[in-house]
Amino acid sequence: MSQPPRVDLRSDTVTQPTAAMREAMSAAPLGDDVFGDDPSVNALQAELAEMLGFEAALFMPTGTQSNLCALMSHCQRGEEYIVGQYAHTYRWEGGGAAVLGSIQPQPIAHAPDGSLPLDEVEAQIKPDDAHFARTRLLALENTIGGKVLPMDYLAAASALAQRRGLARHLDGARLFNAAVAIDAAEPYAAARRICSHFDSVSVCFSKGLGAPVGSVLCGSREFIQRAHRWRKMSGGGLRQAGLLAAAAQHALHHHVRRLADDHALARRLAEGLQGLPGLSVEAPQTNIVFADVAPERAAGLIEHLKARGVLATGLYRLRFVIHLDVDAVGVERAIAAVRDYFLGA
Ligand SMILES: *Cc1c(COP(=O)(O)O)cnc(C)c1O
Repeated sequence: MSQPPRVDLRSDTVTQPTAAMREAMSAAPLGDDVFGDDPSVNALQAELAEMLGFEAALFMPTGTQSNLCALMSHCQRGEEYIVGQYAHTYRWEGGGAAVLGSIQPQPIAHAPDGSLPLDEVEAQIKPDDAHFARTRLLALENTIGGKVLPMDYLAAASALAQRRGLARHLDGARLFNAAVAIDAAEPYAAARRICSHFDSVSVCFSKGLGAPVGSVLCGSREFIQRAHRWRKMSGGGLRQAGLLAAAAQHALHHHVRRLADDHALARRLAEGLQGLPGLSVEAPQTNIVFADVAPERAAGLIEHLKARGVLATGLYRLRFVIHLDVDAVGVERAIAAVRDYFLGA
């Protein structure tokens, strides 16, 4: 008996490039990007910068490197950035800003909606005193844990940062998920509105947008020049990177609006998991569904799902991520596998 294909909900990074994306890659004109000669890289950078309202942009191998170069371009040795406890730039990047940049994070707890309470942000800004690291930057993430930071929150956070002389960085790995959630009809305009509150933004193409590799960092011309130096120093100067940039540009043109389909499937998944004894599901805002498992039911659940061809991560808190390579049939299979586990079929 042939097995149905796996439903891989571990991450939106597991996507395979589509046939059309591979075609765009193979047709891409190439050059040596260390010389600034790759037309496909230059086209992606110019288009994204223009689209999001920045002077310049820089293609990066990974989102981690993009955030690192951004933090190191905003902060000097002995300076600090204010960041959320669960932000990627603090918790999930191996401490790179501290290790490689000598930059100190000042993490603070998130509010339930994922935002950083602004009174707490302000309370953590250090006075100019030799005892303290100099506070230089506010780093936010959107979406954060699949949640969209409200636009009026971004405006208020941005105003606070500007009033207190802090630069503003957005880890927008899933910027376009946030944009589509805010305005599915005009997602590019929504992305630009989000970005208007930041001095720099990093966008991942290897998540829900479905490219195999790549992030782009956006900012002022002068900021991107500094980031370019850090990228080279950290080993991120790529040569014929247009192969990858072409995939990202294809995603930018063809895979943004369809994120709405992922969000709809995430809602369907959450709906299908509602009301099971021992499982508590959070209503998703974008493409990520979290479900809390009663501790006594946790052991064995991931294995059960795997045996049913459904891959997910977590133990007490399951994470299901919808992406380009998941369809409605796959979501129904995932729902059935989880239901069987909790209903004991
Ligand atoms: C995935 C991710 C990154 C970094 O991406 P890599 O390309 O895996 O280094 C940064 N921030 C957030 C929020 C992410 O989800």
